[in-house]
Amino acid sequence: MNIKAAQQACSRLELAQLDALAAIPGRAPAMQPFDALFRKGAGRVDKDGDPRPRVGQLCNFLPEELILAAGCVPLRLDNAYPLAPESEADGLPVDLCCAVKTAAALIPQPPRPPGVPGLPGVSGMQEGTTGRSATEANACLPEVDLLVIPNACDGKRKLVNWMQRRGDKPRVLSLELPPRKRGDDVSRWWREQMERLIQEMERLSGKRIKRTALADSVALLQRRTRALRALNELRTRAHPPLHGADAFLVMLASFRADPLWWCEQVEALVRELANRNDADLPVKPRARLLLTGAPILWPDFSLLTAVLDAGADVVADETCSGTNRLHHPVVVDEQTKNGLIRASAERTLLPCTCPCFAENEDRLERIALLSRQYEVQGVLHHNLRLCAGFDIDSLAIAAQVKKQGLGWLALHTEFQNSSLEGLGNRLQAFIETIE
Ligand code: SF4
Ligand code: SF4
Repeated sequence: MNIKAAQQACSRLELAQLDALAAIPGRAPAMQPFDALFRKGAGRVDKDGDPRPRVGQLCNFLPEELILAAGCVPLRLDNAYPLAPESEADGLPVDLCCAVKTAAALIPQPPRPPGVPGLPGVSGMQEGTTGRSATEANACLPEVDLLVIPNACDGKRKLVNWMQRRGDKPRVLSLELPPRKRGDDVSRWWREQMERLIQEMERLSGKRIKRTALADSVALLQRRTRALRALNELRTRAHPPLHGADAFLVMLASFRADPLWWCEQVEALVRELANRNDADLPVKPRARLLLTGAPILWPDFSLLTAVLDAGADVVADETCSGTNRLHHPVVVDEQTKNGLIRASAERTLLPCTCPCFAENEDRLERIALLSRQYEVQGVLHHNLRLCAGFDIDSLAIAAQVKKQGLGWLALHTEFQNSSLEGLGNRLQAFIETIE
């Protein structure tokens, strides 16, 4: 079983994706640092030699403010690498949302009998007798000391237990989400969850969270929100100065970037984009789309590039890997340590529009607002195959979008496979109806 093969599979996909993005005309030179992050690890927060413990999470619910203030490194690890278990021999059903399956690769796997499929599509990784070692599992994803997984759906809830049974590294903890976002009982519940995780992180780093450290990390994340908002503001222009795939590259870079580095690069990008000549810009899209639904995850940009190939563009998004992750500020009403913890905890819960919540009117409101602000002609609803939450939500959203007189297209995809076959034709047909 060779580590190199896993690394090569990931690198191949990453480089192909980066080369495809670099070939799209009209790219701003200030996109180079984001390319360099994915190509060479520039600006990565998980730098070799950084002694701070690493706290990884799936989704966005554990506030990065708290992780930083506790002296740890925050990493978001949702991904679309080709590492998913493909066989029930791995103890997971084959028919499972691909976001859950790729997350399973964060945990080293025990030996597999010969003949049992392993890493898909990579020579030398198809069959094995030794399973995947910790190093192999981390060939594409950084190693972490603590992994926090919210019980956002059945797949993620079960994944915690599956991972805990697999081994003792990294330590895997569940973050228990409330079924609703508001109410006194919810505030108490959420605060208890935060306290539990703060204790874990403090134990890991050997440091107590101090008010000053927390105030600094809150200020840093507020700067991150301002930078993202300034970038997205440029996309409201009739001729956006960057296309949706590059906007996602920037936003997904924040999963692993040092937050200060990320802010500085985005601020430089915004300065450059704000002053570009029309002649230097990417092609003006035939139709402006809002993307909502399941996250776009690195390195699978096939949906975004298919939209560009069809002559349209995603000018705004309502996804947890894109705008929703970065747009909402920490709202501090009390500068005490408790007040800062409360504000950080509320930032990740209250504005979240994940379909895991029983009531999700916020999502409808957000889609209506964004579609007006960005003057889109159509809404693209993306779902990953086998995700019931997004499918259920999509019916109410479709009704609202149609009532607004906008086009509506719902698509299902699955990472790194051929589910996008025929997508180009569907997108072309859709765009003809709305342009
Ligand atoms: S949609 Fe919800 S469950 Fe899925 S990755 Fe985003 S926050 Fe997590
Ligand atoms: S897309 Fe749906 S099924 Fe998949 S991890 Fe997110 S909430 Fe769970």
